[in-house]
Amino acid sequence: MNGNLVRLAFCCFALIGALGAGGLAHAQSVALVGGSVYASPDAAPLADGVIVTSNGVITAVGSRSEVQLPADARVIDCSGKTVVAGFWNSHVHFTEAVWRSAGSAPSAPMAEHMQAMLTRWGFTSVWDLGSDGRDTVALRRRVNAGEIPGPDIHTVGSIFPRDGHPAYLPAEMKLPEAATPEDAAQLMRTYLGFGLDGLKLFTGSYKGQGKPVVNMDPAIARAAVDVAHAAGKPAFAHPQNMAGVEAVIAAGVDVMAHTVAGEPPYFPEQLARFKQQGVALIPTLSLFAKLPVGPDISARLVATTVAQVKAFADNGGPVLFGTDIGFTNYYDTTLEYELMHRALSERQILASLTTNPAGYFKAAKKGRVDKDFDADLVVLDGDPLADVTNLAKVAYTIRAGKVIYQKP
Ligand SMILES: [Zn+2]
Repeated sequence: MNGNLVRLAFCCFALIGALGAGGLAHAQSVALVGGSVYASPDAAPLADGVIVTSNGVITAVGSRSEVQLPADARVIDCSGKTVVAGFWNSHVHFTEAVWRSAGSAPSAPMAEHMQAMLTRWGFTSVWDLGSDGRDTVALRRRVNAGEIPGPDIHTVGSIFPRDGHPAYLPAEMKLPEAATPEDAAQLMRTYLGFGLDGLKLFTGSYKGQGKPVVNMDPAIARAAVDVAHAAGKPAFAHPQNMAGVEAVIAAGVDVMAHTVAGEPPYFPEQLARFKQQGVALIPTLSLFAKLPVGPDISARLVATTVAQVKAFADNGGPVLFGTDIGFTNYYDTTLEYELMHRALSERQILASLTTNPAGYFKAAKKGRVDKDFDADLVVLDGDPLADVTNLAKVAYTIRAGKVIYQKP
């Protein structure tokens, strides 16, 4: 088969996917009736609200007397419930065995796992920060074709420092290491060619208990970041220690994928540079809380990371919700909300799930419950501003006007 035929075959396949009966473009009108609606984290709630969606978009938001329900709409009774914009989890991984050969594997096990991991917790958009891109790109295609109910998936290509194979990844796993700025730039160009949406750098790599962290030379990191930025793509980094945070700053990285457990709150000079460069932070607090290190060390790791989130947010920096699930199997988001609440208000936490990532990743039609916005919505069993753990009590998850999770 020549190149043109391959392309043609691919295009036809993509078209069939897009037009499939379950495809997102054919979502039926949905009317969410009677709930308390937060248009955004800083808005007052609209009581007894009505939201109408059509073709994946919100077409009306208002009180029951103001909004006419379309005759064909699927009506979802939301009385006693709260409706907010769809959630983003900006740090996940599609690396578990269930996603292997995602292009050809049967859809049922993947659909079941997608629900356990993401949709039952309200996620309508995710950033996969490192996986086998072939699986994730194939999974995304099947999700967007309506075969597997799931979120809008963004994915990145990873780059490790030389000798920077982390202790927690299998030794036989082949990881892309960059020894020079040229290596790093070339890797990022390859990722862009493959259709990936961003970059993940290990500016610090954990080599095991008692062994020194391997940090990436900022000049190597910078070379990859420059290629990503020239293509309009964000750069994430796993910092691991304060030297890794310094490399984030020096290389122009956009998003820190974790706090740095066991380190002090960021230094004033670092906070000033974060602000100047628009750096964002993903806390992943429950990841550190769940490390098998015993209660005393665990309490210290949580205290240091909570202090970092507080210093970062008080400095005005954007916090993006993220949990590293897929690497961990701790899918329940309740603990993450409880720990974040030690540093942030309920409204700030809701912003980390909605308006912050939508704004940061330039998704202009996401993050708010408003007319003409994407119909990405979460219906909660309780008011998250009254009790932050209500963010984990999801009754419905709706993406592009289609119910992708419904509590049994
Ligand atoms: Zn991760």
